[in-house]
Amino acid sequence: MQQEIQLPFPDRTLADRELERDPCYGRIPPQDRAGIVESAWNKGANAARALYREQAGSYDFFAIARASGLKLVEKDVDFVSGNQRYFSDYIAGQGVVNLYLKSIGLWAQQNGMELKQAENLILSHEYFHFLEWTRLGLTSREYRVPMLCVGPLRLGNTGIRALSEIGAHAFARTYHELCKEADHGADIEL
Ligand SMILES: [Zn+2]
Repeated sequence: MQQEIQLPFPDRTLADRELERDPCYGRIPPQDRAGIVESAWNKGANAARALYREQAGSYDFFAIARASGLKLVEKDVDFVSGNQRYFSDYIAGQGVVNLYLKSIGLWAQQNGMELKQAENLILSHEYFHFLEWTRLGLTSREYRVPMLCVGPLRLGNTGIRALSEIGAHAFARTYHELCKEADHGADIEL
Protein backbone atom coordinates (compact mmCIF):
# COMPACT_ATOMS: atom_id res chain seq x y z
CA MET A 1 0.00 0.00 0.00
CA GLN A 2 1.21 3.50 -0.86
CA GLN A 3 0.74 6.94 0.55
CA GLU A 4 -2.08 9.28 -0.51
CA ILE A 5 -4.31 7.10 1.57
CA GLN A 6 -6.67 9.01 3.79
CA LEU A 7 -8.30 7.84 6.91
CA PRO A 8 -10.00 5.70 7.60
CA PHE A 9 -9.39 4.93 3.92
CA PRO A 10 -10.57 6.48 0.69
CA ASP A 11 -14.28 6.57 0.20
CA ARG A 12 -16.20 5.91 -2.95
CA THR A 13 -15.47 9.31 -4.54
CA LEU A 14 -11.74 8.97 -3.96
CA ALA A 15 -11.92 5.59 -5.65
CA ASP A 16 -12.64 7.38 -8.92
CA ARG A 17 -9.44 9.34 -8.47
CA GLU A 18 -7.49 6.17 -7.76
CA LEU A 19 -8.56 4.99 -11.22
CA GLU A 20 -7.47 8.29 -12.78
CA ARG A 21 -3.97 7.74 -11.45
CA ASP A 22 -3.67 4.38 -13.17
CA PRO A 23 -1.21 4.53 -16.07
CA CYS A 24 -3.80 2.77 -18.27
CA TYR A 25 -6.56 5.26 -17.46
CA GLY A 26 -6.47 6.91 -20.90
CA ARG A 27 -7.17 3.56 -22.55
CA ILE A 28 -10.40 2.94 -20.63
CA PRO A 29 -13.39 4.19 -22.64
CA PRO A 30 -15.04 6.98 -20.59
CA GLN A 31 -18.40 5.21 -20.58
CA ASP A 32 -16.84 2.18 -18.82
CA ARG A 33 -15.07 4.03 -16.00
CA ALA A 34 -17.84 4.49 -13.44
CA GLY A 35 -19.00 0.91 -13.84
CA ILE A 36 -15.64 -0.74 -13.28
CA VAL A 37 -14.94 1.39 -10.19
CA GLU A 38 -18.37 0.44 -8.88
CA SER A 39 -17.87 -3.26 -9.39
CA ALA A 40 -14.35 -3.25 -7.85
CA TRP A 41 -15.68 -1.31 -4.87
CA ASN A 42 -18.60 -3.72 -4.43
CA LYS A 43 -16.32 -6.71 -4.62
CA GLY A 44 -14.19 -5.32 -1.74
CA ALA A 45 -17.19 -4.32 0.33
CA ASN A 46 -18.89 -7.71 -0.13
CA ALA A 47 -15.70 -9.56 0.77
CA ALA A 48 -15.47 -7.48 3.96
CA ARG A 49 -19.05 -8.35 4.94
CA ALA A 50 -18.42 -12.04 4.30
CA LEU A 51 -15.18 -12.12 6.28
CA TYR A 52 -16.70 -10.12 9.12
CA ARG A 53 -19.39 -12.79 9.46
CA GLU A 54 -16.87 -15.57 9.12
CA GLN A 55 -14.67 -14.04 11.83
CA ALA A 56 -17.63 -13.31 14.11
CA GLY A 57 -16.75 -9.62 14.14
CA SER A 58 -13.09 -9.91 15.09
CA TYR A 59 -11.02 -6.88 14.12
CA ASP A 60 -7.68 -8.45 14.90
CA PHE A 61 -6.08 -8.74 11.46
CA PHE A 62 -2.83 -9.94 13.00
CA ALA A 63 -4.70 -13.01 14.24
CA ILE A 64 -6.82 -13.37 11.10
CA ALA A 65 -3.76 -13.18 8.82
CA ARG A 66 -1.69 -15.60 10.89
CA ALA A 67 -4.57 -18.07 11.08
CA SER A 68 -4.67 -17.93 7.27
CA GLY A 69 -1.05 -18.98 7.14
CA LEU A 70 0.37 -15.57 6.29
CA LYS A 71 3.77 -14.62 7.60
CA LEU A 72 3.92 -11.05 8.89
CA VAL A 73 7.29 -9.39 8.66
CA GLU A 74 7.67 -6.08 10.48
CA LYS A 75 10.57 -4.09 9.10
CA ASP A 76 11.81 -1.08 10.98
CA VAL A 77 12.19 1.14 7.94
CA ASP A 78 10.63 4.14 6.23
CA PHE A 79 10.29 2.74 2.73
CA VAL A 80 10.39 5.54 0.19
CA SER A 81 11.01 4.80 -3.47
CA GLY A 82 10.77 7.43 -6.17
CA ASN A 83 8.53 9.99 -4.54
CA GLN A 84 6.22 7.39 -3.14
CA ARG A 85 6.12 6.12 0.44
CA TYR A 86 5.21 2.45 0.86
CA PHE A 87 3.59 1.11 4.02
CA SER A 88 3.27 -2.55 3.24
CA ASP A 89 3.18 -5.16 0.55
CA TYR A 90 1.83 -8.62 0.04
CA ILE A 91 4.14 -11.11 -1.68
CA ALA A 92 1.75 -13.60 -3.19
CA GLY A 93 4.14 -16.43 -4.00
CA GLN A 94 5.58 -16.44 -0.49
CA GLY A 95 2.48 -15.78 1.61
CA VAL A 96 4.32 -12.87 3.22
CA VAL A 97 3.11 -9.43 4.23
CA ASN A 98 5.83 -6.87 4.84
CA LEU A 99 4.94 -3.99 7.15
CA TYR A 100 7.25 -0.97 7.02
CA LEU A 101 7.02 0.28 10.57
CA LYS A 102 8.63 3.70 10.25
CA SER A 103 6.42 4.53 7.25
CA ILE A 104 3.35 3.32 9.11
CA GLY A 105 4.45 5.21 12.22
CA LEU A 106 4.53 8.51 10.31
CA TRP A 107 1.09 7.88 8.90
CA ALA A 108 -0.25 6.86 12.32
CA GLN A 109 1.11 10.07 13.80
CA GLN A 110 -0.44 12.24 11.08
CA ASN A 111 -3.78 10.61 11.73
CA GLY A 112 -3.63 10.47 15.50
CA MET A 113 -3.60 6.68 15.68
CA GLU A 114 -1.69 4.14 17.68
CA LEU A 115 0.94 2.27 15.69
CA LYS A 116 -0.76 -1.10 16.25
CA GLN A 117 -4.11 0.29 15.16
CA ALA A 118 -2.57 1.70 11.97
CA GLU A 119 -0.78 -1.59 11.28
CA ASN A 120 -4.04 -3.45 11.73
CA LEU A 121 -5.84 -1.19 9.25
CA ILE A 122 -3.05 -1.56 6.72
CA LEU A 123 -2.98 -5.29 7.28
CA SER A 124 -6.68 -5.46 6.48
CA HIS A 125 -5.91 -3.80 3.12
CA GLU A 126 -3.21 -6.37 2.36
CA TYR A 127 -5.51 -9.16 3.49
CA PHE A 128 -7.83 -8.30 0.62
CA HIS A 129 -4.95 -8.84 -1.81
CA PHE A 130 -4.39 -12.22 -0.16
CA LEU A 131 -8.08 -13.03 -0.68
CA GLU A 132 -7.80 -11.97 -4.30
CA TRP A 133 -4.93 -14.35 -4.93
CA THR A 134 -6.39 -17.27 -3.02
CA ARG A 135 -10.17 -17.08 -3.34
CA LEU A 136 -11.66 -14.15 -5.18
CA GLY A 137 -9.52 -13.73 -8.27
CA LEU A 138 -7.54 -10.61 -9.12
CA THR A 139 -9.77 -7.56 -9.42
CA SER A 140 -7.18 -5.96 -11.68
CA ARG A 141 -7.84 -8.64 -14.27
CA GLU A 142 -11.59 -8.21 -14.39
CA TYR A 143 -11.30 -5.47 -16.98
CA ARG A 144 -8.77 -5.36 -19.76
CA VAL A 145 -7.46 -2.71 -22.08
CA PRO A 146 -5.04 -2.96 -25.00
CA MET A 147 -1.43 -2.91 -23.90
CA LEU A 148 -0.51 -0.64 -26.75
CA CYS A 149 -2.48 1.53 -29.15
CA VAL A 150 -0.74 2.48 -32.37
CA GLY A 151 -3.15 4.32 -34.63
CA PRO A 152 -6.00 1.89 -35.28
CA LEU A 153 -3.93 -1.06 -33.99
CA ARG A 154 -4.67 -2.58 -30.59
CA LEU A 155 -1.87 -4.77 -29.32
CA GLY A 156 -1.98 -7.23 -26.45
CA ASN A 157 -4.05 -6.56 -23.38
CA THR A 158 -3.49 -5.75 -19.75
CA GLY A 159 -5.51 -5.46 -16.55
CA ILE A 160 -6.01 -2.34 -14.47
CA ARG A 161 -3.97 -2.35 -11.28
CA ALA A 162 -5.97 0.45 -9.69
CA LEU A 163 -9.03 -1.84 -9.56
CA SER A 164 -7.31 -4.12 -7.05
CA GLU A 165 -6.44 -1.07 -4.95
CA ILE A 166 -10.02 0.18 -5.08
CA GLY A 167 -11.23 -3.26 -3.96
CA ALA A 168 -8.72 -3.28 -1.11
CA HIS A 169 -9.72 0.22 0.02
CA ALA A 170 -13.38 -0.75 -0.05
CA PHE A 171 -12.59 -3.90 1.91
CA ALA A 172 -10.58 -2.08 4.60
CA ARG A 173 -13.07 0.72 4.89
CA THR A 174 -16.16 -1.49 5.00
CA TYR A 175 -14.60 -3.83 7.56
CA HIS A 176 -13.60 -0.84 9.70
CA GLU A 177 -17.13 0.54 9.54
CA LEU A 178 -18.74 -2.77 10.41
CA CYS A 179 -16.58 -2.91 13.53
CA LYS A 180 -17.35 0.70 14.39
CA GLU A 181 -21.06 0.06 14.01
CA ALA A 182 -20.71 -2.85 16.36
CA ASP A 183 -19.23 -0.26 18.71
CA HIS A 184 -15.82 -1.68 19.24
CA GLY A 185 -14.02 -0.16 16.29
CA ALA A 186 -12.91 3.11 17.82
CA ASP A 187 -10.77 1.72 20.58
CA ILE A 188 -9.88 -1.77 19.60
CA GLU A 189 -7.41 -3.55 21.77
CA LEU A 190 -4.81 -5.46 19.85
ZN1 LIG B 1 -2.91 -2.50 -2.16
